[in-house]
Amino acid sequence: MHTLKINNLSKRYSNGVQALKNVSLEIPTGLFGLLGPNGAGKSTLMRILSTLQDADEGSVTFGHLNVLTQKKELRKIIGYLPQSFGLYPKISAEVLLNHLAVLKGWTNKKQRKAIVATLLDKTNLYQDRRKKLGGFSGGMRQRFGIAQALLTNPKLLIVDEPTAGLDPTERNRFHNLLSELAEDTVIILSTHIVEDVKELCTNMAIINQGQVLLQDNPRNAIEQLQGKIYQKEIHKDELADYKEQYVVIAEKLFLGKPIIHILSDHAPQNGFTPIAADLENVYFSQIFGK
Ligand code: ADP
Repeated sequence: MHTLKINNLSKRYSNGVQALKNVSLEIPTGLFGLLGPNGAGKSTLMRILSTLQDADEGSVTFGHLNVLTQKKELRKIIGYLPQSFGLYPKISAEVLLNHLAVLKGWTNKKQRKAIVATLLDKTNLYQDRRKKLGGFSGGMRQRFGIAQALLTNPKLLIVDEPTAGLDPTERNRFHNLLSELAEDTVIILSTHIVEDVKELCTNMAIINQGQVLLQDNPRNAIEQLQGKIYQKEIHKDELADYKEQYVVIAEKLFLGKPIIHILSDHAPQNGFTPIAADLENVYFSQIFGK
């Protein structure tokens, strides 16, 4: 089993934006959640790992491979599902997958037919294989994206924001597919959706403004916060005051009334009640609590 090791990776775009700053992560087999808000640097990292973009500094290894320099070798064992990808709307899933299989080096027709059928089946698209891609739903498109990413039989699978825009049933189905694959693959799931990480990932990192704020397993990260999260129902016009006085990590509505969550080492007096920490608290305490 391979581990992906990222060491002090930095990337600055020509417009001056520092998208990654000294990112170091160690990612074992299984599902790894890379969680961060829009603009955090997730896609930049995913594209570098997928050999589509160069880093300025740092090193990345996967097993014995140098990811940043041995691009050709890496491309043979990597699968990448980008955030958005174009599909030819007028051809069928089966025809396009077959075509992509040719490009990936499946030259033997019989073997190619077999892998195409296997992947369509695995992603639950076999019954829709003759349908035109233009008529596919968001979830079907994403599953097709996974099917094409699996043509290399990847040991490293990178999926960038895969569940954005999927309905709950499709999202669930997609999650099941990923967790099946995770048994013998390093899968990096980039997302801004805390639920995705909570449901799927054995390990995670939180990234913001190009920097890793936390790497941990979700259970442990939640455990670290127990006893430190308090909530209170407030009036809307008090919010600014509370924000000044406390580390407010969440503002929500409950039955139409504003509720805040704060991060505090000590029990605050005036009407706050302690609550059990969850992964959302972990996320927002990293993003807002620093
Ligand atoms: P995320 O995937 O977490 O939303 P990105 O990696 O897309 O984050 O972006 C990180 C930062 O880099 C953002 O500030 C974004 O505007 C900037 N950025 C991304 N791609 C480019 C690019 N090609 N040229 C210049 N800036 C970019």
